[in-house]
Amino acid sequence: MPAPQADFKSLKQRISIDHVLARYGVKLRRVGPHTLCGPCPLPTHTSRHSRQSFSVNLALQVWSCHSASCVVARGGCMGGHVIDLVAILERCSLREAGLRLQDWFSVRTSQPAPVCAPAMASSAVEPNRPLGFALQRIDTWHPYLAQRGISPATAQLYGVGMYHGNGFLTGRCVIPIRDEKSQLIAYAGRAVNGEEPKYRFPPGFGKSQVLFNLDRAISTGSRNVIVVEGFFDALKVHQAGHHVVALMGASFSQRQSELLLRHFASVTLMLDGDEPGRRAAEVIAQLLKPKVPVSKVDLPNRVQPDQLSPTEINVLVGPANSTLLFKP
Ligand SMILES: [Zn+2]
Repeated sequence: MPAPQADFKSLKQRISIDHVLARYGVKLRRVGPHTLCGPCPLPTHTSRHSRQSFSVNLALQVWSCHSASCVVARGGCMGGHVIDLVAILERCSLREAGLRLQDWFSVRTSQPAPVCAPAMASSAVEPNRPLGFALQRIDTWHPYLAQRGISPATAQLYGVGMYHGNGFLTGRCVIPIRDEKSQLIAYAGRAVNGEEPKYRFPPGFGKSQVLFNLDRAISTGSRNVIVVEGFFDALKVHQAGHHVVALMGASFSQRQSELLLRHFASVTLMLDGDEPGRRAAEVIAQLLKPKVPVSKVDLPNRVQPDQLSPTEINVLVGPANSTLLFKP
């Protein structure tokens, strides 16, 4: 079966860089008849000094970012065309970037596509790749962490804190996300001032492919793991002395199920005390319980694990309060 082809020439001719940036929610200022300028949206951008370093020439359909560290992180390239841009934003190959553009903008190419190509492209989930850089200037002593009940020791261990650098996570509390081999694959950025969206993830990051804190939970050698929804739930449950992973939401993927089954002999679900949390816990229990013992901690209405003290968490996950659903 031939691999799906992307016709680069027709993609470059037909898809405008500003339409692609709009898809990522990037807003630039018009500074000339054909020129847009603004903060660099690329994951390679770490400098906090170059605030307006990213520009797009609409007539030529090229982009560039002149920040030296951003150029170095891109292997010395100053900029490029629309396919380069998507490859960097999505951290994928040029070919994959071409296929994604083709898919997003429904561009027909001169190459006749194989009949099965669209289904393959949409169902294939790209694994998250190691980031290859780490953000600097993360303030792990920021008062926001104390407000959320996160101790300085936990903040430092996890590298969680306020990001004062430049880029799309500026002024947000960043949370490093690692894969099961402890490789840094993304940062999530939590708004601290009520700004929307509450969480920002890098474009192309597949949170359904990861369990937050899985590397640490594996390294303890624990047979049981507690599953929570959010980052801060996980940090609080960790502080109470338990082995925990977070789904980063209330949905549960096949990949997350495989990761749990591969590494743990039993699972305790501790999802939010609301309708979506209870429904998700039901579904996850149904999926897992033919394979591993699953217990469930029911939280009171409108209560999330991140609002609980270590003592309250310990009382809730104590054997008397978790219901063993099934023992194979
Ligand atoms: Zn840049």
